[in-house]
Amino acid sequence: MKYYFWILGCAMNYSDAERISAVLNSLGFTKTDKEQEADLVCVIACSVRQHAIDRIFGKVKEWNEIKQKRPLVTLLSGCVLEQDQKKMKKAFDLIFEIKELDSLPLRLLDYFPLHQSHKEIPSQYLSISPDYRSSFRAFVPISTGCDNYCSYCAVPYTRGREISRPFNEIIEEIETLIAKGYKEITLVGQNVNSYGNDLNDPNNNFTNLIKKIDTISGEYRVYFYSNHPKDISDELIEALPSLTHFPHYLHLPLQSGNNEILKAMNRHYTQNQYLALVKKIRTKIPELLLTTDIIVGFPGETKEQFLDTLRVVEKARFEMAFIAQYSPRPGTRSAKMEDNVSKEEKKKRNLEVNKALTKIVLEENQKLIGTIQEVLVDEEKKDKLYGRTKSYKVVEIKKSPTLKIGDFIKVKIESATAWKLAGK
Ligand code: SF4
Repeated sequence: MKYYFWILGCAMNYSDAERISAVLNSLGFTKTDKEQEADLVCVIACSVRQHAIDRIFGKVKEWNEIKQKRPLVTLLSGCVLEQDQKKMKKAFDLIFEIKELDSLPLRLLDYFPLHQSHKEIPSQYLSISPDYRSSFRAFVPISTGCDNYCSYCAVPYTRGREISRPFNEIIEEIETLIAKGYKEITLVGQNVNSYGNDLNDPNNNFTNLIKKIDTISGEYRVYFYSNHPKDISDELIEALPSLTHFPHYLHLPLQSGNNEILKAMNRHYTQNQYLALVKKIRTKIPELLLTTDIIVGFPGETKEQFLDTLRVVEKARFEMAFIAQYSPRPGTRSAKMEDNVSKEEKKKRNLEVNKALTKIVLEENQKLIGTIQEVLVDEEKKDKLYGRTKSYKVVEIKKSPTLKIGDFIKVKIESATAWKLAGK
């Protein structure tokens, strides 16, 4: 019995897949990376953009054709809006919410001859030991769900209210990973900064969590994702520069640089407050690499309002952004607003943001020529090795028999483009 994963969306979905994988392995399934040999196809969906949902329906047609020729079971989990679920029910054999992962074995019994008992699976799915995809890089979820209800976002409806994972359970998972030699750990949650708000101990907050993680000895880096500007505390900003294992990289979603649009998005900050936060963080960490999320063409966004976003891109000097051309998600507040920016205009604004980012990243990369960077080697292609600096920039070096994936090395940067650094 072989299973294949098709994962869409964010790091949280990849992390969920590692827990689903652990359950399937315990039932006697084996993972394959060849879709054509799978008996079970698992789709981890993302409802955040309509585009991802359309792609899933495209694949369903293919799987239905395969089902005419041989047995194939299709399973759907991840972020799926109720409205999308209704349509998906006909398209998939099995749909389950990740929170109900402990019920998966029972449901698979209708399709596969399973012998294992499902009794040992923890009812809180985040407590399931994952089957990590990599031997040196791991996602560690610290919370799931979100209480923020940004007007365009499906997550609070698909994942529900925010639930934080117990403090000690997170620490134990990270200690185990570091003891096994893992070098890069990413703490994931829809809003990591509000970690612990639902736990009944004010000491179990995000700043204390990362301070505690930093005391674990070993050679490793810890990133965290995603942040909400309104919830980044002064304690966190104070703590970050002194932590050994937390690199100088921050993903700080902006979404829009215009105050009216930010209000309509229900983001709870203004352009000035966002820029003041960036300034405060950069004062503490001058070498900080900042990335962001931007939505272009939100309902009613005028050209002038979009220019405010471009101004913030330039002032904050983002080096990368996940840019979304707005699409309404059913059931969200913004879906009731008129989606009145044309597709062509959204595409144009997307290109303009990209152009501004490319200019910034090239300038910033060129400043690094001649410097020595600590790089974690993470990929091998032909005669080259690739790795990431502390601020997550890609570095290319020549392959060498003494170097392998997972090594920390020092690289002297000799050249730079907008896409990568190269050195010796
Ligand atoms: S913070 Fe806003 S955008 Fe992020 S998951 Fe929560 S509702 Fe969605």
